[in-house]
Amino acid sequence: MSKVIIIGAGGVAGVTAKKCAQNDAVFSEVLIATRTVSKADKIVAEIHQYFPQSKCKFSTATVDADNVPALVKLINDFRPEMVINLALPYQDLTIMDACLETGVHYLDTANYEPKDVAKFEYSWQWAYQDKFREKGLMALLGCGFDPGATQAMTAHHAKHHFKEIHYLDIVDCNNGNHGKAFATNFNPEINIREITANGRYFENGEWVETQPLEIAQDIYYPNVATRKSFVLYHEELESIVKHFPTIKRARFWMTFGESYIKHLNVLEGIGMTSIEPIEFRGQQIAPIEFLKAVLPAPESLAANYTGQTCIGVQAKGIGLDGQPKVHFVYNVKDHAECYREVQAQGVSYTTGVPAMIGAMLMLQGTWKQPGVWNVEQLDPDPFFAAMNQWGLPINELAGVELVKD
Ligand code: NDP
Repeated sequence: MSKVIIIGAGGVAGVTAKKCAQNDAVFSEVLIATRTVSKADKIVAEIHQYFPQSKCKFSTATVDADNVPALVKLINDFRPEMVINLALPYQDLTIMDACLETGVHYLDTANYEPKDVAKFEYSWQWAYQDKFREKGLMALLGCGFDPGATQAMTAHHAKHHFKEIHYLDIVDCNNGNHGKAFATNFNPEINIREITANGRYFENGEWVETQPLEIAQDIYYPNVATRKSFVLYHEELESIVKHFPTIKRARFWMTFGESYIKHLNVLEGIGMTSIEPIEFRGQQIAPIEFLKAVLPAPESLAANYTGQTCIGVQAKGIGLDGQPKVHFVYNVKDHAECYREVQAQGVSYTTGVPAMIGAMLMLQGTWKQPGVWNVEQLDPDPFFAAMNQWGLPINELAGVELVKD
């Protein structure tokens, strides 16, 4: 039985909190702390409405997660075993600092990104390695779906299917329809920064830079659809190629519809996606922050969302029998089914469930070890077992090359 603090009260936090409510054998008390406390209160009200049988106790608090002393006070008052950070990547380091100061474990779903530079990489968080190890604390980085489950899928390939992985393709398809002209499925600011940045993939020991959405191919997503998919840079590529040095090429593919790209091009063309602040009526505002305020909140898309997500990892290389092999591991999730279960759309669901699972495996001791860890460094077997149990069943497809060279 464990006490945890969840920081943030957006789409992902709502799912993780509801999954903690379902898993009350592990989670006994959860404090949801965020900037706008009414959002946390709404999640707790929904938990009382939809999960009245849960024995897990929920409470809420206001916190500014950019402020280390405020976080330290919050943690010292509640005394959790760990903090699940589901705020934004900008808050990762302040929350890690507060965890170190108060002696509690840490988990997040996205790597640190400075607010004023559209750049994300693990170096800032990997620099905490010695501090966490020396204090006997664990920090688990990027335990959502991608990053997160995709790294467990890579570890599963390496453990159960391949002597050597040579080519790795992570594929992320959202074949859903929310009925809006333009909206993002998770935090718009983070999402748009990711997509409008240059693409990048790893080949023969080097990073190859591309224009945004320059490389595309049609990919068949089993039981879902064939969809045009684009190479973009995604953070787990950095840690995967570090931890699996046999990989010669690693790419990340994501689907985007024509209408989405058209809107994005226009918004970019007129400067609305810029992170450079402009002066407006005496105030400094980054256009992308204003755009975020105009766009639908990701959690508001859930009620009418139809269709499925399909996220998986294709590996190619030398199988355990010494023969060339291609293998695909994936999950398919239905948006409407997510809504029926936890009043959320599929993208929040596929992120929030692995966050609960990662926290559970840390609290139970299965994954717990001092230091800063990426998901692919840990045993994928208990994670897969929990994914199957908690709503994200894993499928495998042998011998079919879905992503072409
Ligand atoms: P939302 O924008 O819906 O929610 C973010 C929450 O964090 C909001 O409640 C926000 O408060 C709160 N917050 C932001 N800044 C602060 C602060 N300084 N102090 C306290 N609270 C703060 O985002 P999502 O739920 O969609 O995403 C959550 C995280 O999950 C993000 O880091 C995102 O990058 C990551 N993610 C990871 C994925 C994966 O597969 N690994 C996939 C999708 C998302 P307020 O409402 O007041 O603004």
